[in-house]
Amino acid sequence: MNNFLLDKNNYIDIINDFRILIDFINYNDVLIEKMFHILEKHFNFEISGIFFNSPDIYCTNILNLLIKNKNINIENIEQKFFNHMSEFKQIIKTKSNIIQVKANDDNKILENELILPFLFQNKLLGGICIISKNEILKTDIDTYNFLINELLSIFKLKYLYSEQIFKSSVDGLTGLYNRHQFDINLNQEFNRSQRYNTPFTLAMIDIDHFKNINDTYGHQFGDYVLKEISQIIQNTFRKTDIVFRYGGEEITIIMPETNSNNALLPLEKLRNKISKHNFNNQNVTISIGVADFNNDIKTSNDILKKADEMLYYAKENGRNQVKVFLPSSH
Ligand code: GH3
Ligand code: MG
Ligand code: MG
Repeated sequence: MNNFLLDKNNYIDIINDFRILIDFINYNDVLIEKMFHILEKHFNFEISGIFFNSPDIYCTNILNLLIKNKNINIENIEQKFFNHMSEFKQIIKTKSNIIQVKANDDNKILENELILPFLFQNKLLGGICIISKNEILKTDIDTYNFLINELLSIFKLKYLYSEQIFKSSVDGLTGLYNRHQFDINLNQEFNRSQRYNTPFTLAMIDIDHFKNINDTYGHQFGDYVLKEISQIIQNTFRKTDIVFRYGGEEITIIMPETNSNNALLPLEKLRNKISKHNFNNQNVTISIGVADFNNDIKTSNDILKKADEMLYYAKENGRNQVKVFLPSSH
């Protein structure tokens, strides 16, 4: 009877702990810190890790860590953890983020580990890891299962929330980031370049005579061309270059840490690739305007204007070409 009462209190305690988490579903660091706190209550560990998977495959996969043992090779843990997770998802970029260090000088070998992915409808929602020199479990198996189920709910909620945010930043037809996201990224990149004096390039791509394509072969064929070109662009550029559907048949690429000189080669390659691509036995070409961050650029709007001017120039000059803005200081 006593035991039953104790257990019941324990469960109510856990439920209350998890209920609070819901308020922080969109505050990553706070959420993670609070989750670590819950894990600490119920498990013995020297290292604990929390990973929330993003619906955006280009997102860096971040393993958040709480560390109590200083003699730890974090990269090893990160690698082991994501190797485990990659059974359920293609893992591209990974990074560890130390949320908290509560270090002591214990040199004992860490022998026990628990790496637990959270899945829902074949999707990887995220995962946790707990690594310890002692046996990990402090609680009994029923409490453990109860905890894991509560954690799973938080991972589901977090994933659904990120999915909503992700969907609002992506264009439905092409799967590229949308205009809204472009405005955000362009500002970010502009500010970064200004602060650190690093280059970035903006390319503005427009499909040539797209109206004709629609008028001749129908809108459905036009949509197919737009999707196909978006795919080709995404596969051609580095993962750090970000591709957006700017509007109708206009696509922009932001290339961080790249000046227009270096951007020219892959852009020329792209232009060439598209012109030779077989679109259901039709040929399609694109024109590209390019500008980079330089002395003549004072606002994020300036670089957009320059790229647009260069695009106009490429069109005027006969289409199917790349034109680069050369600032007065060049
Ligand atoms: P230019 O070479 O000068 O760029 O000529 P253009 O015909 O490509 O340019 P214009 O701006 O006259 O026409 C763009 C066309 O793109 C008109 C519009 O109907 C079409 N368009 C915009 N968005 C979509 C879309 O999502 N699907 C399809 N199929 N067509 C679209
Ligand atoms: Mg256009
Ligand atoms: Mg066009």
